Order: sequence, then structure tokens, then C-alpha cells
Amino acid sequence: KRAEIPVSEHGINPALVDERALNVVSTLQQAGFEAYIVGGAVRDLLVGLRPKDFDVATNATPEQVKGLFRRAFIIGRRFRIVHVVYGRGRENEVIEVSTFRAYMDNAAAEQVAGNERTSKSELANMKHAVDSSGRVLRDNVWGPHDEDAARRDFTINAMYYDPKSQIVVDYHGGLKDSKNRVIRMIGDPATRYREDPVRIIRAVRFAAKLGPLGFSIEPKTAAPLVNSQKLLADVPQSRLFDEMLKLLQTGHAVATIAQLRKLGMATGIYPLLDVVVERADQPFVLAALQDTDRRVGEGKPVAPSFLLACVLWADVRDGWAARSAQQPSFAALQDAVEDVFNARIGDVSGRGRLAGDMRETWLMQPRFEKRVGSGPYGMIDQPRFRAAFDFMRLRADAGEVEQVIADWWQEFTTGSDDQREDLLAQAR
Ligand code: ATP
Ligand code: MG
Repeated sequence: KRAEIPVSEHGINPALVDERALNVVSTLQQAGFEAYIVGGAVRDLLVGLRPKDFDVATNATPEQVKGLFRRAFIIGRRFRIVHVVYGRGRENEVIEVSTFRAYMDNAAAEQVAGNERTSKSELANMKHAVDSSGRVLRDNVWGPHDEDAARRDFTINAMYYDPKSQIVVDYHGGLKDSKNRVIRMIGDPATRYREDPVRIIRAVRFAAKLGPLGFSIEPKTAAPLVNSQKLLADVPQSRLFDEMLKLLQTGHAVATIAQLRKLGMATGIYPLLDVVVERADQPFVLAALQDTDRRVGEGKPVAPSFLLACVLWADVRDGWAARSAQQPSFAALQDAVEDVFNARIGDVSGRGRLAGDMRETWLMQPRFEKRVGSGPYGMIDQPRFRAAFDFMRLRADAGEVEQVIADWWQEFTTGSDDQREDLLAQAR
């Protein structure tokens, strides 16, 4: 079933391939190993999109890979993969190199792999999640190339591109499906959802991302989705939380919510996602979703804390108002914020950074009302000022804050020292 497809048929534009990915592949090949660009990057290249990250698959073991690169790190426990790092600081780029793996009909396999994938930013969480899954995995994890293809989820995600020969290796008719704009599960869809229920969420994500290009989920792949949803109960909360963020940060959040509703999955994936879907039509939340999509589209960074702060703001605002009857205003806000964390964020509140950023965004809101003395100067020096300001602007657009106040802050943030003094004088 292995097909080797030449460029005349697949038409991948080599100019879209990242130089560092090319470097990784050619270094491995020169050392005598097989190496390919794999997965989502090949899928994106085939439809002419520039992939946002590149994964490489090889028959070299992680140790062998590591030995070939100056800055390479083996991460993960069982399904160890190698991060080859290029550049530094904010500009740094990681190419993920994974060794061909055997097909295991075991949810834990992708569960662990999924955790490895998130580990780029959250190594600490990953270790915790792997431990807490408490499953014993088989030792023999590496496998032949065809099994590495078979263990992947959708046919369009299971192709291998050799940039040197420009050949695409395809075991499951991925190229045909890509041309026909079909998202098709490899193997029996219901079985594959049972093996790893996160594939249910991934189906939605790819349908939303590729929908504008004409893709839709193939009927047999779509049919078991709703019934399989209950299987998500067995997936660790931290992994579901990560998948939810991916759904919301692919640059297609609005489309994703439409997909969820269309597929009959408006609720039941993850409690916080239920809230997002339920509120997606509220002007304030919709504006935040659209803003997120726009930023991703422009290649700007997005903070999940900002979007979640927007989604849960109604609860904070109502709690704040209710508590203000008995408490001083700021204490009421602080307590309302804690109430919301307890009720809505629960388990994942341990994600310190995200929770801290949400808290600050909310707690800074009353300070926008105080436009006197040194207050505004203190505000603009806060590291989280920008997020809090953007948040306040959305509130102003929703009619919660007077437009003149939002405009005043806009002037103040961009103004010179003299202009700021004038603005402070005016505000009195
Ligand atoms: P994106 O563009 O959003 O990164 P992706 O397809 O690259 O999409 P990743 O999560 O980066 O998604 O995974 C890389 C590849 O690993 C996928 O293309 C797929 O082949 C495989 N994969 C990832 N998660 C699963 C899973 N849960 N089950 C089977 N295969 C998976
Ligand atoms: Mg990817």
C-alpha cells in the first residue's frame, strides 16, 4: 500500500519548507538514516499553507539523533522525542524529531505523546500528567515506517515528505483525501476514538482549520463522534485543558465553535469549553474570539489568559456587584475573582502563570476609573498593563466603560510627558 508520490503529482512548493527542518532532515540522511518531514506540516504544505511548525520522523533512535546536533534535548519518558533547537531567545525555533513508532492500540500511547508535545512550554506539567496517568506501557516502542503511519490519526496527517528527493510517502491515501478535501480517520473511526478520545477534539480542530479550504469530515469519520464523546471522561483534565486551548488558539476559534454546534458537540468536551460555546454569541465574548482569530492570523502572539478572562468576566462582574453590597469594592472584586476560579477553573488553577494573568487583568479594571495623581503612571508601568488595557477596550466596546475613558487611556499610553500632564489635568 506504500505509495511514493513525485512532485509532479503532489506539487509541494519547496520554498514553504523551513530551513531548519531541511537542515535536520539532511543531517540525519547524511548520517545514513531515513528522515522525513511528517504530519501536520505535510498536510499544510499540500494545501499551500506555510506550516507553523515542523515535525521530523526518522528511523534513528533519540540517542542517535541527539548525537548529531549541537543543541538537542531528549524529552519525555517512554516516547522520548528530540527537540533540536535553533536560534535563541524569543526567536528560537524547535524542530521535533520523533523515531518511527510501533502501532499500539493503547490510548496511553498518544496520551503520553500528547503530553510530550505540550512540554515545549510546560515540562513540569507534563511530568506530572505522565505520572498521574499511572499506566504501564510496553517497553518496545519503536517500529517500522508503515506502523508509524498507521498509528497516526487522519490520512492527511500521515504523510512523509522527503525534501531532498521531493517524494511524498503515503500509506493511507492521504494525498487523494487532501485533493478531495476529506478529513478521514485511518482504520475504524469508532475504534480509533476509543484508543484515544482526544482524536474527537482533533477532528473538530482540523474541520475548523481546513473548512475554509473546502475540507469536511468524511461521514464515517463523523458518525461516531457524538457517541464517542463520553470517552473523554477518561482523559486527564490537564490534557483536555490543553486541547481546549488549541481549539481556541488555532486562529479559527469562531469557526471551531460553529463546528462544535454543527456536529452536536456544543457541550460535553470540557466544562470550561461548554461555557465558551454557550457565550460565544455574547458581543463581549464574540469580540474576544474574533480578536484572537485576527491576532493569530497576523502572526501575533495570543495569551489564553486573555480569552478566558473575557469568557468568565460576566461571572466576575456579577459576583463583584453582588458582593459590593456588603464589602468594600476592591475586596468584593478580589473575592468574586476567587469564587470564579473555584467554580470554573478548578483543577487547572495550578497553572500559575495563566491564572495569575487572568487575575491581574480583572483586578486592574477598577484602576482605569481613577485618572488622578500618579495612578495612571503606575498603571502603564505594570507588566500586564497591555492585556488589562485591551480588556478594558473590549468592555468599552460592549458599553460597560465610557468610551471617553477608553479614549483617554489610549491617549495617555501613547502620549508624550506634556500630553500626559494635560490629560491628567483634563481628567480632574
Ligand atoms: P497542528 O498544525 O495543529 O500542529 P498537527 O497535525 O501537526 O496539527 P500535532 O499535535 O502537532 O498536530 O501532531 C503531529 C502529528 O502527530 C499529527 O499530524 C499526527 O500524525 C500525529 N498525532 C498527533 N496526535 C495524535 C493522536 N492523538 N492520535 C494519532 N496521531 C496523532
Ligand atoms: Mg504540529
